[in-house]
Amino acid sequence: MNRFLGLFARRYIAGEGRKDAISVAMGLNSHGILVSIDNLGEMVKITGEAVAAADEYIKLLEEIKETGIQADISLKLSHMGLDIGEEVCRTNLERVIKWAEEVNNFVWFDMERGKYTQGTLDIFFDLHKRHNNIGIAIQSYLKRSERDVGRLIEEGARVRLVKGAYKEPPEIAFPEKRDVDRNFELLMHDLLLRGNRPAIATHDMRLIEAALKFARENGIGNDRFEFQMLLGIKRTVQKRLAEEGYRMRVYIPYGPEWLPYITRRFKERKENVFFFIRNIFD
Ligand SMILES: Cc1cc2nc3c(=O)[nH]c(=O)nc-3n(C[C@H](O)[C@H](O)[C@H](O)COP(=O)(O)OP(=O)(O)OC[C@H]3O[C@@H](n4cnc5c(N)ncnc54)[C@H](O)[C@@H]3O)c2cc1C
Repeated sequence: MNRFLGLFARRYIAGEGRKDAISVAMGLNSHGILVSIDNLGEMVKITGEAVAAADEYIKLLEEIKETGIQADISLKLSHMGLDIGEEVCRTNLERVIKWAEEVNNFVWFDMERGKYTQGTLDIFFDLHKRHNNIGIAIQSYLKRSERDVGRLIEEGARVRLVKGAYKEPPEIAFPEKRDVDRNFELLMHDLLLRGNRPAIATHDMRLIEAALKFARENGIGNDRFEFQMLLGIKRTVQKRLAEEGYRMRVYIPYGPEWLPYITRRFKERKENVFFFIRNIFD
């Protein structure tokens, strides 16, 4: 089973090691595309593993500096030990953020399932008082996100706007896709007008066109926002936007812990099931 999933995974994941991520980053950079590198891992329950995850990010930051690639980093707080305890998580996280400051780099906080939202935001706001080289993903499927985006804008924090990848109950998330998309557009307008270089992180062409039109109509220059997409999705559009002079950043995941990430990508699209089945019978 894993072998078949592995075939599917190659489209979305750079490989198992840092070197794989760096090499994919170099390829994208050569097309004028920026990247954000993510070491896969989440819901760590052992302190030593969370410490090792932070160590891996520090080595990654070193290699980004040495190779001179145009890359920042993305991480999950549950990978830094949020399930073990807030202190463990903060200690690991701050070590990575301080190192990123040393090497003039930037750290994006991914947003995980609903049970982590408040904890992730609390830690983010606190750290943002001392470190301005951090930004955070906000999910438009969450009903609370309008309020969170408002607060992040007031704090001058950078936001990566995404639709959201987890299954959430209707008490906290919009069940209908059209409401998720509508909220994305609303939050995107607010971020483009008042936000600090927001990232519009979607592969939805209607929303990308809407962002371009809104920016044009409101005199918002290309340097005031960026588009972000995942590795392996809408590659032609990624290249086209970069060629047209927009900031385009691709999220590159790597590492042996790829199963939960791939499962989320798998669920996003029906035709991925056919892709998977084709590979099984290859
Ligand atoms: C840079 C970045 C960071 C992210 N970080 C987070 C995060 O921290 N937390 C979180 O919950 N989610 C995160 N996501 C995932 C996000 O929430 C969505 O699940 C994902 O981007 C799909 O939504 P969409 O906006 O592309 O719109 P959709 O409406 O889902 O898709 C639009 C179109 O994109 C294409 N597409 C979308 N997904 C796939 C796929 N898997 N395979 C092939 N084609 C596809 C299809 O053509 C589809 O019609 C991130 C996404 C990006 C781009």
